[in-house]
Amino acid sequence: MKKTPRGAGEGALSIGVMGGTFDPIHYGHLVAAESAYESFCLSRVLFVPAGDPPHKQPQEVTAASHRLEMTRLAVADNPHFHASSIEVDRDGVSYTIDTMRCFRRKFGPDARLYFITGVDAVLQIPEWHNAEGLLEICSFIAATRPGYPLSEVIRFKEQLPSHHRERITVLEVPALAISSTDLRHRVSSGRSIKYLVPEPVEEYIRREELYR
Ligand code: ATP
Ligand code: MG
Repeated sequence: MKKTPRGAGEGALSIGVMGGTFDPIHYGHLVAAESAYESFCLSRVLFVPAGDPPHKQPQEVTAASHRLEMTRLAVADNPHFHASSIEVDRDGVSYTIDTMRCFRRKFGPDARLYFITGVDAVLQIPEWHNAEGLLEICSFIAATRPGYPLSEVIRFKEQLPSHHRERITVLEVPALAISSTDLRHRVSSGRSIKYLVPEPVEEYIRREELYR
C-alpha cells in the first residue's frame, strides 16, 4: 500500500517511535523503522525498549539494561536512529500512552508523532492501556510482517470509527521473517543468528552469554 509522504518541507518535526521488547533487536525492526523514516519523511526514529512490558511476565524478559544496550548498538551507525531509555528509566509498568505523552511534551503540539509497529502489534491496540487516548495523540504506521495477513488489519481498521481509522496506515516493508522469539531459540540451541541481527548485537549476545 502506498503512503503519500508527509511533513516534507513544512518545517514541523515528524517523529517516529518504534516501541518493542527488543529481546533482542533484529533487522526486522530496523528495516521497518528505516522504511517508515523514508516513506513518511520522518525527522528521526526513536527506538524505545519497553522497561516492564505489561503483557509479559518479568521472568520471561531479559533485563532492560541488556535490551537497551543491544538497541544502542543496533542504531549506532544510523544518524537518524536513536535509542531512548524513557521506558527503561521509568519505574513500574510502562504504557505506550505515557511514553507518547512525554514525547508530545518534549516535541511540542505541532510535532507529528508516529508510533511504528508491525501489523501483528497493531491488531492488539484495543487491548492497550487507554487505546483511545493514544489514537488521539499519535498516528500509527503498521509495517507488513511475514506470517501476519494484511486482510486482518484491513478488517480491523474497518471496525474502527473513521477518525481512528485514518490514524493507522499500513506500510509495505521488505519482508523479513525474523522474530526475537526465533532468535532466542536459535541461540539457546547453538544455531547461528548471523545476518539476522547487526554484528555488534550478535557480539554482545555472545559476550554477555544471553539466551543460553
Ligand atoms: P517476540 O518474538 O519476542 O515477540 P518480535 O520479533 O515480535 O519479538 P518485538 O520486540 O515484539 O519483536 O516487536 C517490536 C515491534 O516490531 C512490534 O510492533 C512488531 O510487530 C515489530 N516487528 C518485529 N519483527 C518484525 C518484522 N520481522 N517485520 C516487521 N515488523 C516487525
Ligand atoms: Mg513481538
